[in-house]
Amino acid sequence: MLKLLAVTAHPDDEAGCFGGVLSKYSGEGVECAVLCLTGGERAANRAGAADDAALKAIRRREFADSCHHLGVTTCELWEYADGNLFGADFAEVAGRVAGFIRRFQPNVVVTFGPEGFVTAHPDHGMAGLFTQAAFQFAARSLPYAERHSEGLPPWQAEKLYYCTTVFSLDVRPAVSLSPVTACIDVTPFLRRKNEAFAKHTSQLPLLPIFEHAQEQAGSEELFHLAATRKITPLRMETDLFDGLR
Ligand SMILES: [Zn+2]
Repeated sequence: MLKLLAVTAHPDDEAGCFGGVLSKYSGEGVECAVLCLTGGERAANRAGAADDAALKAIRRREFADSCHHLGVTTCELWEYADGNLFGADFAEVAGRVAGFIRRFQPNVVVTFGPEGFVTAHPDHGMAGLFTQAAFQFAARSLPYAERHSEGLPPWQAEKLYYCTTVFSLDVRPAVSLSPVTACIDVTPFLRRKNEAFAKHTSQLPLLPIFEHAQEQAGSEELFHLAATRKITPLRMETDLFDGLR
């Protein structure tokens, strides 16, 4: 069975940034996992939560509902500080993500580019940097990976992609976006993607921003092939599992 792993920064990224491909590939029988690095407890929209811990608990439930709606069978939310992934210990986080990769054994890993995708959120960029390192660490007998791998052997995923876009939001434009090398038609999955985003009821004030981005993105999710086990000349792909089936 083919496996897809998405590594994200906040609860709702799985729907807003990867909802189309998660829905598409889970529907095709690909086993899908989402690893979210923060609890999203610093969100401006508080949903009446008394404190950060209460909001984190709400968002953890919303994240699980959204993942379930997208057909994701493995979802984990780690509790690194929302808004401060810069402050996390790089080797520790990358090592833990490498351990997760060894356990789940994905064929394809998707995450953010260092620019932080369409919102240029620094947490997105850091999630991408941790994952970029973890993708490599997981396949090698390095101390960073061994420390968090419970004795599991190295695992080399086939491909690593960053989600990317051809536009930026005016409020916080990305510095430089990764070139598009894969264009995935998610037309039949847009309704499910939107429904998954709406599971994040605490963040529904963000819905107009999400819908605006969705309108500009149209019916495609775009990716940049950042690393690949099989070295081939770069060409535009229409399937993240191109060459792996
Ligand atoms: Zn986010």
